[in-house]
Amino acid sequence: MTKTKYLIIGNSTAAVNAVEAIREKDRLGSLCLVSDEPCHTYSRPLISYYLGNKVEEEQLFYRPSSFYYLNKVQAFLGDKVVSLDCANKQVVLDDRTGIQYEKLLLATGGAPFVPEMPGQNLSGVFTFTTLDDAQQVKKFIASHQVKKAVVVGGGLIGLKVTEALLALDIQVTIVELADRILSATFDRTASRIIERALKGIGCACLTNSTVKEIREGEPGRVGSVVLKDGTQVDCQLVIVAIGVRPRVDLAREAGISVNRGILVDEHLKTSVDDIYAAGDAVEAYDLIAQAARPIAILPTAARQGKIAGYNMAGAPKAYEGGIPMNSVELAGVPTISVGLTDPSTLADGERRNGMEVIQDYREKDSVYKKIVLEDNRIVGIILVNKIDRAGIYTGLIKDKIDIASFREYLLKDDFGLLSLPREYRKHMVTGQGIEI
Ligand SMILES: Cc1cc2nc3c(=O)[nH]c(=O)nc-3n(C[C@H](O)[C@H](O)[C@H](O)COP(=O)(O)OP(=O)(O)OC[C@H]3O[C@@H](n4cnc5c(N)ncnc54)[C@H](O)[C@@H]3O)c2cc1C
Repeated sequence: MTKTKYLIIGNSTAAVNAVEAIREKDRLGSLCLVSDEPCHTYSRPLISYYLGNKVEEEQLFYRPSSFYYLNKVQAFLGDKVVSLDCANKQVVLDDRTGIQYEKLLLATGGAPFVPEMPGQNLSGVFTFTTLDDAQQVKKFIASHQVKKAVVVGGGLIGLKVTEALLALDIQVTIVELADRILSATFDRTASRIIERALKGIGCACLTNSTVKEIREGEPGRVGSVVLKDGTQVDCQLVIVAIGVRPRVDLAREAGISVNRGILVDEHLKTSVDDIYAAGDAVEAYDLIAQAARPIAILPTAARQGKIAGYNMAGAPKAYEGGIPMNSVELAGVPTISVGLTDPSTLADGERRNGMEVIQDYREKDSVYKKIVLEDNRIVGIILVNKIDRAGIYTGLIKDKIDIASFREYLLKDDFGLLSLPREYRKHMVTGQGIEI
């Protein structure tokens, strides 16, 4: 049985930040890390750019290969933790290795959701959340005549894969269950702009639709998909990108409190003493929603990993809460969404009625700026094609600044630091106001 002071399950953003935070406070305490991915830590958001040949494989690795050695980490890579015994403070790996810990971090991230559908085991059907997925898809494309692909799911991951496939001259059809793509992060207008841009580069978006069946073409391989209305779409490749769910099975089976994600307190401690959780796996405080919920983005995982690491190493620090945000170029269109972008989705009617939207939509130029206000404070933005002031808006959201005195400038193209009150401007320049 291996014994360690700190044990981290996971080897991605939350885990790496936790390692660094622990080592800031405790240089020598023994530290083990286990990940069922066999490779060194890599940037998950870049895997679609790797597929599309925009970045080389080496560029995915954002920490040097000496990272574990320099941080005195005993890394078990390619090993899965199959059980957790909270009472005896130990885990068991799939090769039956036992590890006993004093403090544990669950940084288990998310797992892709794949609904049952006939044909899903045919060669040419993939999910797309890991480097291994990206390598497999790349290999498949290189060794087969892939001319047409179907991407199931029009969310952020589906669209990032679509971009990569289009860059490889593969014709893509997106199939989306909702009545528009990007429905989780955008409003109708922003979704339509991206749908139009995709159409402009030859990509079809079939909304209000779903794949009923994947059919065989050549023996054992994908040849087409059949949609719920019976339409058949020929393709040699299917990427299932319906969504990612917090990976909570280990925690749940161990008796740790779980909802959609692992539940944590403000110190990111779970319902069990000495066990912490961070990143995509958790449901932590969302400053805008004013409730706990999963925010599956990299900056949140990094921040939570760091804070969990400090707390594990005996340096108490509270997590102040996160804000959902996405900054991504889709079909050549730069976009940013932050916070609550569509008040109509709010369940709390009273809060919804207290919100106000100001916007500037220039349809011909596909420029869209939308600001959601609550009590004269910005709680959400969408920027499409004009994103250069995103950092300032995000600072105003985080710092809960009353915008009454400069509201009339908010949507102007020359809105900038000079439009802000002098005192806040000083904070923006010298403090932590701008961060995106
Ligand atoms: C294709 C794609 C594009 C993305 N693009 C963006 C973007 O543009 N911007 C952005 O902010 N975010 C983006 N994200 C989200 C971002 O990657 C995640 O928020 C971030 O990776 C979360 O980090 P994490 O450490 O919480 O978990 P993860 O990165 O999910 O890592 C969890 C790790 O834990 C391991 N693990 C889980 N359970 C076990 C177990 N039982 N035993 C051993 N190991 C285990 C997993 O194998 C994995 O290595 C993207 C995600 C994907 C998939």
